[in-house]
Amino acid sequence: MQSNRIPFLDLVSPHQELKEELVGVFSHALETAGFIGGPMVEDFEKSFAKFSDAQHCVGVGSGTDALRFALMAAGVGPDDAVITVPNTFIATSEAISQCGALPRFVDVDEHTCNMDVNKLADYLAKHCTQNDANGKLVDKPTGRAIKVIVPVHLYGQMADMDAILELAEKYRLAVVEDACQAHGAEYFSRRENRWRKAGSMGLAAAFSFYPGKNLGACGEAGAVTTQDEHLAQKVRVLRDHGQVKKYYHEVEGYNGRLDSIQAGILRVKLRRLAEWNERRRECAARYNELFAGVSDLLTVPFEPSWSKAVFHLYVVQVPRRDEMMKHLANSGMGTGIHYPIPLHLQEAYKALGYRQGDFPVAEKLAPRILSLPMFPGLSSGQQDQVARQVLDFLESENRSHISYEAPGVSCQAGTPGLQ
Ligand SMILES: *Cc1c(COP(=O)(O)O)cnc(C)c1O
Repeated sequence: MQSNRIPFLDLVSPHQELKEELVGVFSHALETAGFIGGPMVEDFEKSFAKFSDAQHCVGVGSGTDALRFALMAAGVGPDDAVITVPNTFIATSEAISQCGALPRFVDVDEHTCNMDVNKLADYLAKHCTQNDANGKLVDKPTGRAIKVIVPVHLYGQMADMDAILELAEKYRLAVVEDACQAHGAEYFSRRENRWRKAGSMGLAAAFSFYPGKNLGACGEAGAVTTQDEHLAQKVRVLRDHGQVKKYYHEVEGYNGRLDSIQAGILRVKLRRLAEWNERRRECAARYNELFAGVSDLLTVPFEPSWSKAVFHLYVVQVPRRDEMMKHLANSGMGTGIHYPIPLHLQEAYKALGYRQGDFPVAEKLAPRILSLPMFPGLSSGQQDQVARQVLDFLESENRSHISYEAPGVSCQAGTPGLQ
């Protein structure tokens, strides 16, 4: 069968479609020489705050900057520890370490791939203790003070925020959302009886506008959202060398500003984000239908009734993932693995002292997950082609499995046409 190449992600078409407006942003920046900060940045910040139901948005240089500044503004520093999950992009834990703090992991739920709130509760109850002198919560194995929990809204689906916020309140911890994959994702809060947007629920949230994200710049960019004016102000100071006004440095800060060309581009693309997210949801629903007949061989993403995911990634779980990935690559289809090695088993984190077996769910997921092509312009024809190749692979796998189970039958594994 002839099949066309299907990319994992299409970053060309959306920019072609918006080319005139995007070039207009660039021309405007050239004419005004407003390259850093200024009205284009403020305009985008206002619009993105509104989109995320947050009071404030502060544009920064990247999602990693956003996480780092949000954590620092939340009071994380040396001698502290921050709780997050092991199955995330390393930027989450880099930001923690770069505040001088120690990342501590809790395992994830097998179905949502997000923080397992029961394991978080266990961790807080069993591995932590309240310091009698200052009332601080201390991580017993390391002696570090726990200040913040960072749930990651992985693949575009929010973590179970009600439960996480309840635990945070009980132990007097702050929550900083890693919303770098979840622009526009929604969560139905049972305790508030209303839908909430990613980036509106924690003390602060970090967004990335790396080109491949649901809202991507044409370069590096990120933002912190928060309901807290005080925290927003701290992030504004941190992103700009600790300046409260030019050459008056309140603290030592960073070069972490959002440049105005990226802000202008993001402002243009933000107008399309809700529609693009809806397209992603439609594509996910269609994949789910196409795979409905093989639910015993392939697990599609699980979306709880309280979640409206924005499918930054569409991630299935299969037993022989590497083989399936190869099969799809041979048919010209792009796929990805997010992420092949959990953070606690990375070379970079040897010193944290974790071992194989510490986070069984994250470890079980890593060799089973595969991200299929997913972007707003993915056509139903392209989805059919991807599904055809996936089903072909599963069918041939199943056949070789049957022939193994019935060695008496004289046949070759995977012989075409064999039932
Ligand atoms: C992309 C991403 C980041 C980092 O964002 P950058 O803009 O690349 O710095 C952090 N966390 C998660 C979960 C991400 O997907």
